[in-house]
Amino acid sequence: MLTATGVRAVDPIAALARESYRGIALYSTPRGRCGVDLSDNTNLWGAPPAALRALASLQGEDVTRYPVAYEPALAALLADYAGVSADMIACGCGSDDVLDSAIRAFAEPGEVLCLPEPSFSMIPFFARANGLSPVVIPLTGSFDADLDAMLETDARIIYLCSPNNPTGGALSRTTVEQIVENARGLVIIDQAYAEFGGDNFTDLASSGRPVLVTRTMSKAFGLAGLRVGYGIGSPELIVEVLKARGPYKVNALAERAAIAALESDRSWVDDRVNEVVANRLDFRAELAKRGLVSLESSANFVLVPVDDCGGTASRLERAGIRVRAMPDLAGIGDAIRIAIGPWDMMQRCLDALVATT
Ligand code: PMP
Repeated sequence: MLTATGVRAVDPIAALARESYRGIALYSTPRGRCGVDLSDNTNLWGAPPAALRALASLQGEDVTRYPVAYEPALAALLADYAGVSADMIACGCGSDDVLDSAIRAFAEPGEVLCLPEPSFSMIPFFARANGLSPVVIPLTGSFDADLDAMLETDARIIYLCSPNNPTGGALSRTTVEQIVENARGLVIIDQAYAEFGGDNFTDLASSGRPVLVTRTMSKAFGLAGLRVGYGIGSPELIVEVLKARGPYKVNALAERAAIAALESDRSWVDDRVNEVVANRLDFRAELAKRGLVSLESSANFVLVPVDDCGGTASRLERAGIRVRAMPDLAGIGDAIRIAIGPWDMMQRCLDALVATT
């Protein structure tokens, strides 16, 4: 809104909102469908069959009644899947919800959250939305976390991501263990892509140090639309996360489908993960043959540095392939992030890349 003198005025409603929210914009996602959508790292084979059957069999009461607060049945199955006890699990509306709740639970407004860059783009947003200052520390030349620089920030929360989005690389166990050992506050290890490679850091949740490992059913389990994620930590830590999260955050439909997938479709998920790993290897080799060098990946996507990511992504979109443009990444420059799916999708992506570059 412009005043008579041409000065941009703050909208009176927006002026009532928290001052620290003025610099926060809504998250924007691409609109509409695209022939082959490789932009969001979801399961491109589809959803686990048992989850779809569970959704189709829902009855009125499944919808009219509240679910059980804090989802104990789902937590028990996730605990079994992760190899921990049920009191070490906090479910959430996606792992986004668990991350947001943990940040709120373990830091007061004004404190620092330290994260590597490039890394998961939502973290600075969650930090600011909870009144914290995000401090970014570039990954090292070998795409590991910069141990000394991160610890020097004396942050109340250190966020690590392995395999990391958007680079796809896994952090070294030694680095992660040293950060956990020496951090002054909570260490979050985001393992949304754990099924696809790299070290599993779940054991650190039982190390006696304040560690929260977050994982999700959005990627390997193919349930992104239902929004189910979880955190793994000591029982004392989990209680704090759940207090910040609040009750009823996983809806009854999502809980039903997630339970069905965990009970009946773990081997279906394993088979899809194996296909991702095989196709990732072949796709990277095919990219290299075409002069495109991708970063080493332990995730269900690869990052490909390019000269102009916006231009490349637009040309691919016109050819019916959607990838994620990643402009000006620290230490990398422009890149496109491409999810790994069934080979016919990867072939169409390769063909479009050749035709448009
Ligand atoms: N962490 C990372 C690293 C991610 O890439 C994503 C999703 N893109 C999430 C967490 C959040 O996933 P969800 O909320 O669907 O569990």
